[in-house]
Amino acid sequence: MAEAAAPRLSWGIGAPEGLLTPPGGPATAPEGRYGAAGREVKLFLDGGDRCALSLPAYALGGLTVQALRQCTATRHFGPLRDALRRRTRLHGRRLDIAYLRYPDHALTGLLDQYLAAGFRVRMHALGNLAARQAAQALRTIGAEPGAAIIDHLVLLDPVTTELVAAGGAWATYQPGFQTAFGPQITAAGTDRHLAVLGGRQLLDSGVPLALASDYPAGPLDPLENLRSAVHRTLPYGRVIQPAQGLTPTEAVRCLTTAAAGSLGIPAGGLTPGERADLVICDDDPFGQDSRVVQTWVGGRVVWHEERP
Ligand SMILES: [Zn+2]
Repeated sequence: MAEAAAPRLSWGIGAPEGLLTPPGGPATAPEGRYGAAGREVKLFLDGGDRCALSLPAYALGGLTVQALRQCTATRHFGPLRDALRRRTRLHGRRLDIAYLRYPDHALTGLLDQYLAAGFRVRMHALGNLAARQAAQALRTIGAEPGAAIIDHLVLLDPVTTELVAAGGAWATYQPGFQTAFGPQITAAGTDRHLAVLGGRQLLDSGVPLALASDYPAGPLDPLENLRSAVHRTLPYGRVIQPAQGLTPTEAVRCLTTAAAGSLGIPAGGLTPGERADLVICDDDPFGQDSRVVQTWVGGRVVWHEERP
């Protein structure tokens, strides 16, 4: 695949048993190629479908109402049954939804082993509890800045974001998740308590930030992801937390040079001497109707629109 691919490909490993199982450490990692960006492993701190979250205690009402509404809409008890089975814990005024898959010490140990063996470690953290655990683990072992990546960071609070910044990892988020999961998040009222895909909060805290699609979990189209990072639109023309939007320049940088940097591939942007991987649009890429008309990889046109 890597030989045929333009643009370049790279890949990471996980546990062969599936994403719910912790991988067995660097000694069990396959030899061989990992593509253009070196050896990488992904650890799921929470998710796929479960968030490790910390909310104000009064948020419980909204979550229960959402489950009841879903029951009515689907004429099925499943949503309420799931809500009652949520691993919720009250700590004073905080409500923790505790779907962390690793005890702290297990995560720290595994992270330390993979980093020492030269792997880039990618940590999947949807909720703020998982993001905090990732950041604290990095600080505990004294990881080098940029040695790890924290993926997704769908729901954040300012204190967690500061911890993520102090942990020194790259962060990625998927603006297209807005359309995929935004309605679900607003229906539960979670957007009243936490930053949703808080690009602005992350950048302002000094977190090195990359944009990604996470396709097929989010939409693949890079232009759609760019526009979502700036315009913050939900289906039916609604907007979610517009103050978390990036400027167009920030969004382009996060999707291109920063994304390359997060994979250890330094890229200086549109500069003489840089490798020319770029696209040309027929209009403002942030306008709703603009399209890519040329794709360049390594200084050559690999695709262009057929003009009639
Ligand atoms: Zn992930």
